[in-house]
Amino acid sequence: EVRVRFPPSPTGYLHIGGARTALFNWLFAKKHHGKLILRIEDTDEERSTQASIDGIIEGLQWLGIDWDEGPYFQTDYASDHLAAADRLLASGHAYKCFCTKEELEQKREAAVKAKQRDVGYDGTCRHLTPEQVREKESRGLAPVIRFKVPQRQGSMFYDDEVLGRIERNYADIEDFVIVRSNGKPLYLLCNVVDDIRDRITHIIRGQDHMTNTTRQVLLYEALSAPMPIFAHIPLTLDLQKRKISKRSHGEVVAVQFYRDHGFIPWAVCNFLCLLGWNPGTDQEFFSRDELIQAFDLSRVSRANSVFNFKPGDPKFFTDPKLIAVNEHYLRTMDIQLLGEMVRKELEAEALWDPDYATNRYDWYLTTLDMIRDRFHTTKDFVTRGRAYFSDAYEIDPKPLAKNVLKFPELGTWLPTLAKRFAQLTEFSTEATEQATRQLADELAIKPGVLINAMRTVLTGQLAGPSMFDIITTLGRTKVVARLSSIDH
Ligand code: GLU
Repeated sequence: EVRVRFPPSPTGYLHIGGARTALFNWLFAKKHHGKLILRIEDTDEERSTQASIDGIIEGLQWLGIDWDEGPYFQTDYASDHLAAADRLLASGHAYKCFCTKEELEQKREAAVKAKQRDVGYDGTCRHLTPEQVREKESRGLAPVIRFKVPQRQGSMFYDDEVLGRIERNYADIEDFVIVRSNGKPLYLLCNVVDDIRDRITHIIRGQDHMTNTTRQVLLYEALSAPMPIFAHIPLTLDLQKRKISKRSHGEVVAVQFYRDHGFIPWAVCNFLCLLGWNPGTDQEFFSRDELIQAFDLSRVSRANSVFNFKPGDPKFFTDPKLIAVNEHYLRTMDIQLLGEMVRKELEAEALWDPDYATNRYDWYLTTLDMIRDRFHTTKDFVTRGRAYFSDAYEIDPKPLAKNVLKFPELGTWLPTLAKRFAQLTEFSTEATEQATRQLADELAIKPGVLINAMRTVLTGQLAGPSMFDIITTLGRTKVVARLSSIDH
């Protein structure tokens, strides 16, 4: 059975790089009818926060990335980690090291002066006898525990599902610390012990973990545990080839940002998946099931992927490709589902009329369907689409100048049109259009002058759906009121 995991350290929000790692694991689990395990790696108690745990869980839930087991919390398994360290000591795969920070620092400086290659820890405590260890401990010295990297010729290797064979000279791997002098085990060890206990078969994570993998493979061997398969996925960089991070990019790399800015969760997943993976065809949009079918580790790219975002450039409010994918889903998704999403936006702005869910449900959905073609996010329904749901909307200055203020006579033309609309027996697209063209004829002006002015006044926007569809959607009362009120 395939068992994969997503093990975030809760030291910050869920960012798009982490979300993509979670997504790849989720797709892989689904494709192979396996299990995804969520493990919160909260061993770093100083940096872990409850807010960040909540944020990560909410972010995954929002994206629709569900897990089959967990969340497990790494701190609940502290005794397993220490037991593993003890086993490694007992089997001679680890040793206690009493070198102090100062001593290590001095050695490093001396090596630099002598222009020697820095191969890390020099192994001073590797050869302490049990008596020497006891003697130091009896003096109250607190050791760290170091892993004893095998002194073998040649290199260790593993076969990465994405990158192929990865090799590393044993001589270049230093004896790394697995337990601190305060008795706390370190990430490298905890992560392996938990993956063994959780029976993880595939470790899919970022290329930034490759130096960890080298050392962790040695830990698996020393613990005589079955070796999982590793798949290292490319990093996500910005246009300047910097790793994306909160510090340099701000909120735009947080999953939460997309929830707060009216993005559709599946659109974000679809976009993320194409960051560093391709289907081998031209297909860009995938349903959930299509993506699960299509996803394959062999098509994960080796090269870094680019999140097309320039910090500080307002034109790049986020990657334009992400906006385009979102537009696609916004415009094609099931209208009732969209209705649910827009309802939340309207509620947040106190624009939700309970009638929309009952008597006016058809009106509500038809209106959304009519206006969604020009929108980018669900926020647009309460900003650019506000006039459909409220009388308190702003008129865009550009069309106001171009379509209204340029013709002072509109101050009487539009109220005249409003009166005629009020008298129509039937308030239909045909009838309103006919009345508009008739008035334009009488005034010897182009109908476009009236139509553009009406669009501006009625919706506040430069562009939109067909004018007479707008008119009938808004209904006679609002149209007459809005067109009459221009005269003041
Ligand atoms: N807690 C680690 C991280 O968030 C886990 C990495 C991994 O093993 O996948 O970077």
